[in-house]
Amino acid sequence: MKIPNKLNIMGRTYRVEYDEKGLSDNDDVGKYDEQAGVIYISKGFKELPRCMDSVEQNFLHEVVHGMCWQLGYNQLYNDEKFVEQFSGLLHQIIPQLEDK
Ligand SMILES: [Zn+2]
Repeated sequence: MKIPNKLNIMGRTYRVEYDEKGLSDNDDVGKYDEQAGVIYISKGFKELPRCMDSVEQNFLHEVVHGMCWQLGYNQLYNDEKFVEQFSGLLHQIIPQLEDK
């Protein structure tokens, strides 16, 4: 799965930025920042990089937060269990749609 540098969600363009140090304030591995228009993803620490599967899943997790926000589903936006499960499904399905 290819993670783009920019992603449009319902007309709003978000930059995708990587944090090499980890988003370590509270052990977050990703962050959806609506105001700044940025999806932050941690690639882990230099000495302990995260596997790409984990980075992709994390990216989709933040994308699902963004989708819920743009759709106005505030309850789902804050429902980490839903966001994690739905992004897990996307992570399984999206690679099957790509050309081999
Ligand atoms: Zn989340």
